[in-house]
Amino acid sequence: MSENLKFENIYCVGRNFVGHAKELGNNIPTSPLIFQKSNSAVNIKETIEIPSHKIIEHELEVVLLIGKEGVPKNHEEAHTYISGFSTGLDLTDRHLQTELKKKGMPWFASKTFKGSAIIDANFIHEYECPQEFYLMVNQKIRQEGNLKDMIFSFEDIILHLSKIVDFKKGDIIFTGTPEGVGALERGDQIEMGFNNYPPKKLVVI
Ligand code: ZN
Repeated sequence: MSENLKFENIYCVGRNFVGHAKELGNNIPTSPLIFQKSNSAVNIKETIEIPSHKIIEHELEVVLLIGKEGVPKNHEEAHTYISGFSTGLDLTDRHLQTELKKKGMPWFASKTFKGSAIIDANFIHEYECPQEFYLMVNQKIRQEGNLKDMIFSFEDIILHLSKIVDFKKGDIIFTGTPEGVGALERGDQIEMGFNNYPPKKLVVI
């Protein structure tokens, strides 16, 4: 890792962009929908290994790195818990997720297989997050996101989460995907990042 820091809990937000909630036929949530990936699912390498015989979809997301422990009390304080911004892919076994949803079961197995939490470990340490982010697959834009389209802001998410958990330094939050999710294929060349910042390049194997 580029920083002398160990990742702790991996929290994720579902349905945080109207466009994506609609493309999967879901309702718009009235409070942040939180789920988790296991810490062992983190992949910061340049390769994405997808399990064979599975259709794995990419969800491009802004990833927050939490820099301190405790419980923030308001929006300003919540913002100070963020020590870095990056992008990542919340890889999803959509077929399995749909089956689990139908059965009313947790999404866990569809969200946390080996290497399913792709993170660009080069976090940007600025006070504000860059507004626009993108995913290119084989030189073509696949997903584009703008923070202004988020249903719940980073601070909303942090305040909501802090009612449930105590943050640890090194916690990660995937903040939700814009529309355009789709399947990855072996050999795909991936580029992701914030506009006007160096991208993270990966290849699917
Ligand atoms: Zn996601």
